[in-house]
Amino acid sequence: LLYPPDPGSVKVSTIGGNVAENAGGLRAGKYGVTRNYLMQLEAISPTGEEFKSGAKTHKCVAGYDLVSLMCGSEGTLGVITKVTLRLTVLPKFRNTMTATFADASDAGRAVANIITAGLVPATLEIIDNVTLRTIEDFAKLGLPIDAGAMVLAEFDGLSKAAVDEEGTTAAHILQTSGALDVTVACDASERDRIWQARRSALAALSRAKPTSILEDVTVPLPKLAEMIAIVQRIAAENNVIIGTFGHAGDGNLHPTVLTDERDEEEMARAERAIEQLFEAALELGGTLSGEHGIGFTKAPFLKRELGAGSLEIMRRIKRALDPNNILNPGKFV
Ligand SMILES: Cc1cc2nc3c(=O)[nH]c(=O)nc-3n(C[C@H](O)[C@H](O)[C@H](O)COP(=O)(O)OP(=O)(O)OC[C@H]3O[C@@H](n4cnc5c(N)ncnc54)[C@H](O)[C@@H]3O)c2cc1C
Repeated sequence: LLYPPDPGSVKVSTIGGNVAENAGGLRAGKYGVTRNYLMQLEAISPTGEEFKSGAKTHKCVAGYDLVSLMCGSEGTLGVITKVTLRLTVLPKFRNTMTATFADASDAGRAVANIITAGLVPATLEIIDNVTLRTIEDFAKLGLPIDAGAMVLAEFDGLSKAAVDEEGTTAAHILQTSGALDVTVACDASERDRIWQARRSALAALSRAKPTSILEDVTVPLPKLAEMIAIVQRIAAENNVIIGTFGHAGDGNLHPTVLTDERDEEEMARAERAIEQLFEAALELGGTLSGEHGIGFTKAPFLKRELGAGSLEIMRRIKRALDPNNILNPGKFV
């Protein structure tokens, strides 16, 4: 059986943290996020009452949906003590491929073309040139460091014929979308190398400069290529290094600003770049955060996305459940 949510932090994060953040990860496009696997939840409120919501059933509409309220609440409304998770069948077959592009925006368009063709990849990721170079420097995997970007795609399922057909169609779409080359992994070690590259992205970027600021902007898929181009423009205009990777099939990018917090002038440019990233994502109809949550640092920007009315409703929920403001005070509400 398979528990599909697969955040990059899988080796260190806890289920409680995953639920509190409604974590997504590399398989969200096909399989969804933590909330999709959360059937029942028990928690302790900030004022000490035990409560539960949901059921071990396929459907449940008994009362307010406190499972959804708690999932993604970033530890502000209660301490989650027990969860019942839904598992799914482990896919038997996989078809994994990479494609390189001269230009990262072309890679973004190719990703959108795959999804609009009706294909449902288990994983559809992007790694830009800055990140490719940094990973290669870190992990020595033989990555195409001259490419503008690399797309990584994996199809999985219970039928080899169906998985292979999806893979063949995807490879064709990547080629006709301008890929310089498309390489299908021929064995498990080749597949592992591909995913090792992707999973090394944040660790590699984090060691490239003293300070790395990981963002999580997410846009509607038809706007993905535009967002990628905007990230590059913002990096150039602010003279900062931004390495971008992410769950492209979900429109979810992780532009990571590489800087040095000891350098005040550079930090000011980095912060300006981040604010511009947020503004761009919102202008394109997207969100500040696809999966990492708002936390402390994005809290000042949340009103821009939600508006004052929604924020006030959230504050009322917080005040009602946590009148003494003891759980993660200052986090997003
Ligand atoms: C290297 C790296 C890669 C990542 N990749 C992804 C990714 O691909 N996809 C994705 O969605 N996210 C990703 N994340 C962020 C992700 O949301 C978190 O890593 C993970 O879900 C948090 O779990 P944790 O156990 O580390 O929680 P913590 O970081 O310890 O806590 C996160 C929040 O949850 C609260 N919390 C923790 N446990 C509970 C509980 N039992 N009850 C109530 N509140 C609780 C904490 O108070 C805190 O506010 C990544 C993070 C890192 C560091």
